[in-house]
Amino acid sequence: MITFEQVSKNYSHNKATVKVLDNVNLQIKDHELFGVIGESGSGKSTLLRMINTLEQPSQGTVKVAGVDVMQLNEAEQRQNRKQIGMIFQQFNLLYNQTVNENIALPLRLNKTYDQQRVQEVLDFVRLSEKGEHYPKQLSGGEKQRVGIARALITQPKILLCDEPTSALDGQNAYDIMELLRRINQTFGTTMVIVSHELNLIKQLCNRTAILEKGKVLETLAIQKGQQQPQFETYYERVRESL
Ligand code: ATP
Ligand code: MG
Repeated sequence: MITFEQVSKNYSHNKATVKVLDNVNLQIKDHELFGVIGESGSGKSTLLRMINTLEQPSQGTVKVAGVDVMQLNEAEQRQNRKQIGMIFQQFNLLYNQTVNENIALPLRLNKTYDQQRVQEVLDFVRLSEKGEHYPKQLSGGEKQRVGIARALITQPKILLCDEPTSALDGQNAYDIMELLRRINQTFGTTMVIVSHELNLIKQLCNRTAILEKGKVLETLAIQKGQQQPQFETYYERVRESL
């Protein structure tokens, strides 16, 4: 369980204080696909980054598995981050390193790593043959698969997804959404997905919070019965919509 208890975040600019999150209360259950939807600037990334202590609340408490993450010492914070993977809108890959090296990044000690483990996650994200490629040789969707593989390498219990499909076009976005669903189904990973894209949240998540100007207006269950039809291939999707 991840809980936010009366969490606020302020930034100061030239003596003025801006409230980016305002008294946020949330309970995200284990194994759940939880969405946070809101417009640009509503505070989504700030909220997400508090879970792995990249941001600190100005007030209130964020707990992961019952533990206040701000009470952890540095070693414990590193340990906490290991069980929390993160993926990003712009993938955040190292462009002078191969796919294998990018994925192994969280494991690397003295430049050595377990290639078998890297190959396992490469296979899982269906990039089996691309380990020796460089990011610039990959499509956007493939780059995001590498980002996801890198997040999975430490077998995280929680996966934080910041606009995971926003830089991708229709079919690539759809494939990444399916991959995220498969991660949840296979490993039971708790996922927090922040996005401004209604379709992604609606099709992928079980529940979502609606964030506006730093406030959670509502948290609601998503009715899967109202889901849009899903298509296996780009062709089927195009055919159906014409
Ligand atoms: P987007 O959809 O554009 O990614 P977001 O919902 O993720 O937006 P945040 O990045 O959380 O929004 O930012 C919320 C607000 O906080 C914005 O107005 C932003 O300018 C402000 N903000 C974020 N980080 C900082 C910072 N380090 N210092 C000052 N203001 C910040
Ligand atoms: Mg953001």
